[in-house]
Amino acid sequence: MNLRILGCSGGIGMHRRTTSLLIDDDILIDAGSGVGDLSLEEMSKIRHIFLTHSHLDHFTFLPLLVDTMFPLIDMPMMIHGHSPTLKALQEHIFNWHIWPDFAKLPSAENPVMGYREMHPGETIDIGGRVLEMIAVNHIVPCVAYRVETQSGVFAFSGDTTTNDSFWDALNAHDRLDLLLVEAAFPNASEALSRAAKHYTPNMLAQDIKKLRHNPRIYVSHPKPGHEDVIFQEVQKAVVDRDISSLNGGEIFTL
Ligand SMILES: [Zn+2]
Ligand SMILES: [Zn+2]
Repeated sequence: MNLRILGCSGGIGMHRRTTSLLIDDDILIDAGSGVGDLSLEEMSKIRHIFLTHSHLDHFTFLPLLVDTMFPLIDMPMMIHGHSPTLKALQEHIFNWHIWPDFAKLPSAENPVMGYREMHPGETIDIGGRVLEMIAVNHIVPCVAYRVETQSGVFAFSGDTTTNDSFWDALNAHDRLDLLLVEAAFPNASEALSRAAKHYTPNMLAQDIKKLRHNPRIYVSHPKPGHEDVIFQEVQKAVVDRDISSLNGGEIFTL
């Protein structure tokens, strides 16, 4: 399995792109602004998009992706997500006011995009890549994904603050090679982090102690301008783990 980081920033500006991960050439987790760097040919191969939650930075290029692909693909792109996330998209984005309802275009019988509801704890096998949805703890309903193939396993936290559900779900399995986890704010912004339900480096360090595996760990979703201080604080707080900062454009082979 190949994993390409199209975007992992908490915002925009210069080289920064918001969250989107490409698995092989056909599965996206989230559809932030990193999607805009794909070629038309690369976009046309995407068949499944798994969303973590309904915040704009995680789906901002989804409406434009579907619109761009509209005349170019003959199979629907499936949008997988927890029911509150899909409902928010249907009501507030693909509602004919902000953007057309592409689940009914070019016809309701043969649309360019479809929705598939998933529940935390559920898994789906897409060509040997098994995705498990895991509930996390964010200001809106949010999920993480654990992705397993015969050759490797990674997990992506989505947006979350302190929780047990993510760590318990990872510990319930025997293997974890790579962990992508958020730390959005520096330690000085702990009150804001708790209010917005994100991790600070110190909060993340406490939760990483719950993990029984010893994967390579990469920290994502820093607020623009705070990348260096957040990662310095992560390195100081998490001393016994193989931990790095995640960069857009990075490619992992698992
Ligand atoms: Zn969020
Ligand atoms: Zn976010």
